[in-house]
Amino acid sequence: MFSWLIDALFPLECVGCGAEKTIACENCLANLRFNEETTCPQVTVTGGQVAFVSMYSYANPIVKGLLRKAKFHAVEPTRGAIIQLARKGLAHFASQLPSGDDVIVIPIPVVASRLRERGFDHILDIAKVVSANLKAPIVKALAAKEHKRQSQLESEASRLKNIREVFSVCAPVSGKRVILVDDVATSGATLGEAARVLESAGVCEVFGVVLARGGKKSESTTS
Ligand SMILES: [Zn+2]
Repeated sequence: MFSWLIDALFPLECVGCGAEKTIACENCLANLRFNEETTCPQVTVTGGQVAFVSMYSYANPIVKGLLRKAKFHAVEPTRGAIIQLARKGLAHFASQLPSGDDVIVIPIPVVASRLRERGFDHILDIAKVVSANLKAPIVKALAAKEHKRQSQLESEASRLKNIREVFSVCAPVSGKRVILVDDVATSGATLGEAARVLESAGVCEVFGVVLARGGKKSESTTS
């Protein structure tokens, strides 16, 4: 109802170049560069660190614009564009991710307050793309307590402290190899903590894949 009015008052424009009537135009999406420098194909978990592939840089205005916020009237276009980014990234990076019958895909859970704010679970959307590409099932095996946004915290030490003990394992995962999925990783603290609790629950290996790698400063939406 009144969508014409909302469209008139808040016209959609590309987060990259300002082109009208789209949240991310074809041209900006086509020219988006992959983040080649941070790929880390080795599967290791040591001391709360987890190797992960990050498909794009968070510094890219398209990626940042889409992940930062969905305007209230642009939930579906934003969601669609994030899924497009994930599909394009997966097509490029899938060969660096583990595969096999024992691999499961686990999304980092979005806490209830943030889900209400955003209106959709974009991390689950990205996880579905990973799952479809690798033909590995999604298992929502992690639950998260409410905690501060990692992006509000500057130092790696405070991010580690903030995320400590946040996750619990709520599904059987013993003997599995896991691909953890998140939207943004900066210090890797969130992935590392999730890997730690999954390992205590009997997981064999943990590998991460994120849509974007944040910079040194706290500019990411999550970790
Ligand atoms: Zn554009």
